[in-house]
Amino acid sequence: MRELVVLGTASQAPTRQRNHNGYLLRWDDEVLLFDPGEGSQRQMLHTGISATDLTRICVTHFHGDHCLGLPGVIQRLSLDRVPHPVAVTFPAGGAEYFDRLHHAASFYETAELTVEPVHADGQQFTLGVGTLEARRLRHPIETYGYRLVEPDGCRMLPEKLAAYGIAGPAVGELIRVGHLDRNGRRVTRDEVSVTRPGQRFAFVMDTGLCDGVYALAEHADLLVIEATFLESEAALAAEVGHLTAGQAARVAAESGVRTLVLTHFSQRYADPRRFADEARQHFTGELVIAEDLMAVQVPPRRVASAG
Ligand SMILES: [Zn+2]
Repeated sequence: MRELVVLGTASQAPTRQRNHNGYLLRWDDEVLLFDPGEGSQRQMLHTGISATDLTRICVTHFHGDHCLGLPGVIQRLSLDRVPHPVAVTFPAGGAEYFDRLHHAASFYETAELTVEPVHADGQQFTLGVGTLEARRLRHPIETYGYRLVEPDGCRMLPEKLAAYGIAGPAVGELIRVGHLDRNGRRVTRDEVSVTRPGQRFAFVMDTGLCDGVYALAEHADLLVIEATFLESEAALAAEVGHLTAGQAARVAAESGVRTLVLTHFSQRYADPRRFADEARQHFTGELVIAEDLMAVQVPPRRVASAG
């Protein structure tokens, strides 16, 4: 199962309709929690995903709407006696904030947090399901966006294997070595398989337009990106290090994104349809204007190409 579950969608301060930020990514056996703002622990109760399910927490930066939920979620890990270590990734420059949030109140700590800060642009973390990469974004404080990249795989074609009389342990050898000699002829892996394209998820929060935004969004199957403002406030957005819905949609269109999720809305706009209207002028793929507690599926794999 691969899906995004939205906990909250408000920038800066929660509103009656929108909780502070917060996003869960369910990706096979991994459940990643991104940017838990205030109230994230309670929002999780509505999703059917428990603290025990979490495998990693990623924080883009230490503004309150992206991290004030950490104390509650971290203490919940111990309250629920989560048996496995949970990795926590955040900008290394914000370690002092993380330490304070971690120990914001007294609790009996049983859960093991594996602290893995981001020290440099492009730093990668190896997960069971692929590579998590951090890219520097443009915001008044140190901020990193993230992307999860699953490597391409290969799917063997049974009818082609049968045609060459390859079966049993020989299949494993062919996959491992890349070729096999059969009846005086060399059969390569590419002849009997197709590429299974890996999937990509990208998470781009508070930032002005910069190279990091494009690097993260490139060929994402699912891109979650902030659209704090509309184009009418483009000058203000640039000044304070944020994106407009139009900019986010153009990035998605230029980067070959398939499903685009806009979120982190400023409370100055009462009608969320305005974000959709603006984004639609630039992006023709699947467009989602995030609402709290919404689930968004990662689209099916791109079509496999021959060997
Ligand atoms: Zn924010």
